[in-house]
Amino acid sequence: MASKFKLLNIDANAKTVKGQARGYLTGILYLSPSDASGTQLCPLSHVARCAAPCLNLAGRGGMAKGNATFTSPGGHVLSDNTVQRARLRRTELFLEDYDGFMALLVKEIRMAERMAQEQGLTLALRLNGTSDIRWEDIPLTVDGRGYYNIFSAFSHIRFYDYTKIPNRRRALIIPNYHLTYSYSGVSDFAPVVIQALRTYGERVNMAVVFRGDVPKTFLGRQVVNGDESDLRFLDPTGVVIALKAKGKARGDTSGFVVDHINSPAMSAAA
Ligand code: SF4
Repeated sequence: MASKFKLLNIDANAKTVKGQARGYLTGILYLSPSDASGTQLCPLSHVARCAAPCLNLAGRGGMAKGNATFTSPGGHVLSDNTVQRARLRRTELFLEDYDGFMALLVKEIRMAERMAQEQGLTLALRLNGTSDIRWEDIPLTVDGRGYYNIFSAFSHIRFYDYTKIPNRRRALIIPNYHLTYSYSGVSDFAPVVIQALRTYGERVNMAVVFRGDVPKTFLGRQVVNGDESDLRFLDPTGVVIALKAKGKARGDTSGFVVDHINSPAMSAAA
C-alpha cells in the first residue's frame, strides 16, 4: 500500500518553483489539516480559527468537478478531488502505520536528494505543508540506527516550517530546521501570540496573512513580502512576512486574515 502513492510534492506549485531561481528544489508534505482526518494535527487551529481559511483548500485542493464535496472522517466538508483524498490517505498511513510512513518518507527524501543533485539544486523540505506537528519530538530508525528526529537523521538537509504552536523550544536549537511563526488576527488568539513573542523573540519571524493593503510595519516589525518564494529560511531575521490571502482565506470572516493594522491581537501584544 505504502508504495502506491507519494508523500512529498516536489516543486508542485508556482511559489515553490520560484525557489529554483534561488538554487533550491522544494519538497512539501501535505497531510489533512486540523482534525479533518478525525485526529487533530494542528493543536491551535480551533483557537486560531484557521481550519476554514487554511491553505488546504487553496488552488487545486479547492477545485472539484461540479463543485462536488465530501465529508471527511473528522466532519470537514472538503472539495471532492484527488488532492484531498491523497492528503487523507497520507494522514491515515501516518496515524495507523507510523513505521511504514517513515520508511516511505526516508525513501522519498533520498529520491528528492538525487533529483536535486541532478538539477544542480539544493533540497529544502517542509513537512508541515498543511499540518502543525512537532516533528522535533518524533524519533525514527533509519538503516537500523535510531535518531531523535528526522532532522538529525538528515542533518545535511535544510528543513523549514510554519507553526502556530507558541512553545516549540526544542525546535529552536536544531541547526537545520527553520521555523516561522504563523499569526492569526482572531482576538482569542492574542494570548497565544504574546506567548509566542516571549518564547521566540526576534529569532523567529512572524507570517501574517493580509487582505488588501499591506502595512509597512506590524507588531513593531518591518513587513517584507513572503510571496516571492517559499524559502522562509532565507528571510531576514526579526521581520513580519506578509502573505496575500488565497483560496477560502479571501472571504474569511473569522478574523484570521488581517485587513488592517489595528487588529485586536496587535493591540493586546503591543
Ligand atoms: S494550523 Fe496551519 S495547516 Fe493547520 S489548519 Fe491552521 S492554517 Fe491550516
